[in-house]
Amino acid sequence: MHILVVEDEPKVAQAIKNGLLSEGYRVTTVHTGEEGFFQAASQKVDLILLDLMLPGKSGIEILNALRELGKDTPVLILTAKDTIEDRVLGLDSGADDYLVKPFAFPELLARIRALTRRGRSDQVLKLKLADLELDCITRKVKRNGYDIPLTSKEYELLEYLMRHQGHAVSREMLAHDVWQVKDRATPLDNVIDVHINRLRSKIDTNFDQPLLHTIRGIGFIMKTEDEP
Ligand code: CA
Repeated sequence: MHILVVEDEPKVAQAIKNGLLSEGYRVTTVHTGEEGFFQAASQKVDLILLDLMLPGKSGIEILNALRELGKDTPVLILTAKDTIEDRVLGLDSGADDYLVKPFAFPELLARIRALTRRGRSDQVLKLKLADLELDCITRKVKRNGYDIPLTSKEYELLEYLMRHQGHAVSREMLAHDVWQVKDRATPLDNVIDVHINRLRSKIDTNFDQPLLHTIRGIGFIMKTEDEP
């Protein structure tokens, strides 16, 4: 899955790129409208994240030009402006969705998943460990063929742990990436532990092999017992 990010703010572009790379997407970032149009018109990309306020060609001009060329690549507009006029203009120009900055990264991922449903890559969008399966599009979880209903936070937590399967995940990582909290504190640690316990009781309790393990003093890990 190849995503083109057209964003002139270097820090924002880099943060989006790093986040998407760690989710397994291929990412090209460009910083001007002209370069964005050139890349979008000349390369095969699966999705375009398009800032509206760009030097040179504006996001709307790029979008209009692409649609005129007959390119129907899904476009998700990212903008700092949240006015009705901008939304209408963006969607009228052929954007598929609209996200106002600053946004939480999981929200961006959810929009990307929704927009790329048709051309989905099963490697990125299905996660598996032993008989536990996650479908990142429908957000359905199964173990040994049985549906496991999770709350949305439990799902986000499990998806994060599964994306790091075989690797230890610390409470800091969970606080930062799943709860989007910069300063970790004891009350949040308690919240994390409560969610971990609920998740464990749902995915592990009625099955032979535990998959969610606590590593004392470090954090948590998803793995089968025969893995080291
Ligand atoms: Ca901008």
